[in-house]
Amino acid sequence: MSNSNILDVAIIGSGPAGYTAAIYAARAGLNPTLFTGAQPGGQLTITTDVENYPGYPEGIMGPQMMTDFMNQAKRFGTEIRFGSVTSVELHGDVKKLILDEKEEILARTVIISTGASAKWLGIENEQKFNGHGVSACAVCDGFFYRGQQVAIVGGGDTACEEASYLSKLASKVYMLVRGNSMRASQIMQKRVLNNPNIEVLWNSETAELLGDTMLTGIKVRNRETNAISQLDVTGFFVAIGHKPNTDIFAGQLDMDEAGYLKTVPGRSYTNIEGVFACGDAQDNIYRQAVTAAGTGCMAALDAERYLAEKELV
Ligand code: NDP
Repeated sequence: MSNSNILDVAIIGSGPAGYTAAIYAARAGLNPTLFTGAQPGGQLTITTDVENYPGYPEGIMGPQMMTDFMNQAKRFGTEIRFGSVTSVELHGDVKKLILDEKEEILARTVIISTGASAKWLGIENEQKFNGHGVSACAVCDGFFYRGQQVAIVGGGDTACEEASYLSKLASKVYMLVRGNSMRASQIMQKRVLNNPNIEVLWNSETAELLGDTMLTGIKVRNRETNAISQLDVTGFFVAIGHKPNTDIFAGQLDMDEAGYLKTVPGRSYTNIEGVFACGDAQDNIYRQAVTAAGTGCMAALDAERYLAEKELV
């Protein structure tokens, strides 16, 4: 680093994308500093077993996996700072980040890996049973409900895709749609409606999540008749959308209507030179730990190349 007050690489976010970027940047001798955000380790810290990340043949608990990621990043010299970046000024050769609304951080490159957050219904017991019957990711957790009855909430493409996925594992899938039509594309709807293992409950909302320490069933209210029915499901999947954690970049970085950062296809470049995006903050399609890690690697390599081309390192 030519000026010791300016970081070569600042990484915002501590999920698989951020830590993978840190591992690559650190091994390239760029001494990255990673700012964890309010939820160190990201979304994986609120899941239980992760069985689809290559390299863990027996599976691993999400929080442990993120500790492993962090330790690997630290091993090569990444500095980990606990705290949230609360505002940024990204234009120009030196980017400015404000940590926890007070400390000013300067950096030549910024890698954004702030992730996304699943939207939740906000009903009682939803968070208590999270990881114990309640999940916001069918691909992550569906396997644990093999041969059991499950319910999924939502009527978008994600809900349809996840209902179809679950139908191959669960003995029965109830899909709770709050209106009398679905927002999902026609083809996805058709797939769901033609699936004998999926029963769509229209005009339906979740009235109650039942159970003591684990989910044992749900109560469903029909919004037209107010009638309450009970479903003996052990899995309850919430698929009502995600929100990328990108509010602090509004007005500076290009994003789509939902707030996902736009990157050059196949690269991690944003619309601002020296600013790279990876992971779920720029991906509303795959949203997997392994895809996030892959794009984190890309961002670090792009940042390294940028610094070399600018002869800054
Ligand atoms: P969407 O925002 O498209 O859909 C959200 C769904 O959840 C809607 O049906 C909505 O109902 C429902 N919902 C929202 N809040 C509540 C609530 N409080 N209670 C009950 N239901 C609720 O999100 P998705 O994640 O499905 O999709 C996001 C984007 O990703 C879309 O553009 C989608 O097309 C895309 N996508 C594409 C895929 C593909 O092409 N294979 C796969 C997955 C996603 P309502 O309609 O009544 O508002």
